[in-house]
Amino acid sequence: MRVDLLVLAPHVLTMAGDGVGYRAGVAMAVDRGRIVDLGDAAGAAERYRADETLSLPHHLVLPGLIDAHLHTGCCILRGLAQDTRHWMMYGLQPFDNAVRQEDRDTGSLLAILEAVQAGTTTLGDYGEDMEAVCAAVERIGVRGHLTQLIREVERRVYGPDELYPFTPALGRQLLDRNLSLYDRWNGRADGRIRILFGPQAADFLSEPLLQEVRRAAVERGARIHMHVQQGDRETRQIMMRYGRRPIAWLGEIGFLDEHLIAVHLTDADDREAAEVARSGAAMILCPGSIGLIDGILPPAAAFQAAGGRCGLGTDQAAGNNGTNMFNEMKAVCLFTKLKHQDPELMPAWRALRMATIENARAIGLGDQVGSLEAGKRADFIAVDLRRASMLPVHLEPMRNLVPNLVYSARGPEVVLAAVDGRVIMRDGEVAGIDREELCDRVNACARGIGERAAREFREVDGVGARFMRMGRL
Ligand SMILES: [Zn+2]
Repeated sequence: MRVDLLVLAPHVLTMAGDGVGYRAGVAMAVDRGRIVDLGDAAGAAERYRADETLSLPHHLVLPGLIDAHLHTGCCILRGLAQDTRHWMMYGLQPFDNAVRQEDRDTGSLLAILEAVQAGTTTLGDYGEDMEAVCAAVERIGVRGHLTQLIREVERRVYGPDELYPFTPALGRQLLDRNLSLYDRWNGRADGRIRILFGPQAADFLSEPLLQEVRRAAVERGARIHMHVQQGDRETRQIMMRYGRRPIAWLGEIGFLDEHLIAVHLTDADDREAAEVARSGAAMILCPGSIGLIDGILPPAAAFQAAGGRCGLGTDQAAGNNGTNMFNEMKAVCLFTKLKHQDPELMPAWRALRMATIENARAIGLGDQVGSLEAGKRADFIAVDLRRASMLPVHLEPMRNLVPNLVYSARGPEVVLAAVDGRVIMRDGEVAGIDREELCDRVNACARGIGERAAREFREVDGVGARFMRMGRL
């Protein structure tokens, strides 16, 4: 049988079935971007005539990681909004107000580089102007599950009890941008790009606009990717406006169903999380981000216990400091064990499933990626088992590959990433990104943002400004 590519590896986690699908000595045959067979490595040379053979003799091969929710553009503000309450107003806002679109686009490239180097092959990016990200995804070869942000509320500082006024012209403009993005990019790059609809959150859009976005998404068979009950500020807004908590209100207006990808649920309780799960909507948990900026672990355990599909995301590097799914896998395990004081909760294998197959199912790509099975797209990564952090390799009587991957690996152990059977990263080099040039450009953006943000940063005088005065940064 002739195939494009044959991948040979001593250890494979297929993520098929309900565990991690471990297989030893595997030959994975890939043709026209799809996996056509996973057989024994022994005798593979006789069974297949491959145009190319990828021999990975001391590696662990597994599906490419999926980052179901992130804002790549925010990467340009990495490390500027932590260790503070009210992170958005007192941490991020002075810098966010100084960011230009070219800064965001540069931040996006930085985030994509960092993500792919750490084994992410599907990016659930979410932003206000996604043109440059779409072009970068097409060029670099990664898979993009991309969302246009829609809001109907102007960006400025609001008092805690001030009801946001809606600006319909702004909402209309952003919905039109989403529709146009969908028409131009959905299905492009050999189907690697999918466009979703992105109402920012229930408090940022009027009900008529929310319903219009929903109709537009449902008509096209596209998902709605939305922050849900992402903080007490949202809860207060919805209570003031409609007299209900956000999830109850979203249920009443028919927003909770399988079309919805609900991100965060930070301010939801277990009962509300279970209600979302039962509706068929998916949940995306961003443990690093919400842990760092809010000190909260959202009720993912209750959501999963109710049978919901729950995936993982990195959210934004301004808060969580990294576009790296290894951080999130470790964080969800640690935080769950700490919150419930039970080391048996959230084992490593479950976190790995949340970053692969469960994430794929949560965002509607379960038939395409997330596991290595015949018929699926050949998105895979190779982890070097001779790196110090992956050693020793125990195989009998107990394998330690999955615990080492989740609790010990930090990202550089991933030495190869492929999407649709095409290698997009090898030894840290990502096709289509000039690292030196990007590094200079990123730091030039940082200097410009610093100059423009300085006055407001000092006026706000948040934790960051005080730490600077006290010599703590
Ligand atoms: Zn977000």
